Amino acid sequence: MQVKSFLIKYAEIGIKGKNRYMFEDALVRQIRYAMKSVGDFKVRKESGRVFVEAQGEFDYDEAVEGLKTVFGIVGICPMVEEEVKDMDHLRQSVVKYFGEKYPDRNVTFKVNARRGDKQFPLNSMEINMDLGEKLLEAYPELKVDVHKPDIMLNVEVRKQIYIYSEIIKGPGGMPVGTNGRAMLLLSGGIDSPVAGYMIAKRGVRIDATYFHAPPYTSERAKQKVVDLAKIVSKYSGPIHLHVVNFTDIQLAIYEKCPHDELTIIMRRYMMKIAEHFAKERDGLALITGESIGQVASQTIHNLAITNEVCTMPVFRPCIGMDKQEIVDISEKIDTFETSIQPFEDCCTIFVAKHPVTKGNLSRIEKSERKLDDVIDDLMKQAIDSTEVIVVDGRE
Ligand code: ATP
Ligand code: MG
Repeated sequence: MQVKSFLIKYAEIGIKGKNRYMFEDALVRQIRYAMKSVGDFKVRKESGRVFVEAQGEFDYDEAVEGLKTVFGIVGICPMVEEEVKDMDHLRQSVVKYFGEKYPDRNVTFKVNARRGDKQFPLNSMEINMDLGEKLLEAYPELKVDVHKPDIMLNVEVRKQIYIYSEIIKGPGGMPVGTNGRAMLLLSGGIDSPVAGYMIAKRGVRIDATYFHAPPYTSERAKQKVVDLAKIVSKYSGPIHLHVVNFTDIQLAIYEKCPHDELTIIMRRYMMKIAEHFAKERDGLALITGESIGQVASQTIHNLAITNEVCTMPVFRPCIGMDKQEIVDISEKIDTFETSIQPFEDCCTIFVAKHPVTKGNLSRIEKSERKLDDVIDDLMKQAIDSTEVIVVDGRE
């Protein structure tokens, strides 16, 4: 029996009234986005539930993979459909479904019927009893367990009969579009794509800013960041990726400021430029992949100094995670293989041998004053020459 549609389960806790409509509409919109490259699907809400129905042939695994990228979904139930004829036809369908799906019959089950079509002669309770009995006749090894069954066999009688028993775990979270917009500082590393994923998971739309330093960084390094944005966009929806030419700013810092402070000063200008583009896109926060103590620029002292130039909140979802924990997520969301491609990053080229780990704010500010006569122009040039690429992993 072929799966033709999916019932989508989502957590409803705390989403009532007006918020519930917003949540469901965003969920439907994001499901449509995820499925557009899989095939022709109709996505609809019906009495507080969401259904995804194939309009033609489709690849089952691809469809499930697509649905697994939609935040807000906690469970995906593949359903088979049958015409509503009579009770006998329903019995045959259920017995056949069970037989095909569960070759191992040493299990417990419970039938959970729902009668949406009140014309149907039996009510839910009667359908439960009747089908339970028929299943036990067909497969005598089965046992009924009404409290904790191994298999909960759901049967819904509406315009069609829907049978489902499997719940595939969804990613959880909130549908993208329910919680504003933020700007991700996206490098080619492992951490920042994970950070973007985690904030998008809370319903936030994301854009991205990448700083490159041609000719010190290659076209290939930039392509890697575009590829990473593409993977993240499968979850988050299309991303406006801002590619900033950071070379002249980096050269000026390199020329005029103490080398052990390079990374911190550079980071502060990155934050300022990213914040500029965040405001342009109506973003309300910045996102980075920073994690306390991971490298010299991420000691708590240096994080505080970097943070000092920002007027928006900075979300750092990886802040308390070990590298391995971040790697595990990057493998799960499929960015890891791309992240580990060996292309130089603009920070690694201008990096000092012994960067300060305990930056001092007034000293850093004093160093930055050496840039006073050039930095405004350089920032303006960098902003004006920024290339914006709309990245859509579902195209
Ligand atoms: P990642 O794996 O994200 O590159 P990392 O361990 O390499 O992290 P850093 O290079 O110190 O860490 O960068 C810390 C954070 O600063 C990154 O997670 C990212 O948010 C931001 N960042 C660093 N370099 C860039 C860049 N070239 N363009 C945009 N953002 C950057
Ligand atoms: Mg990096």
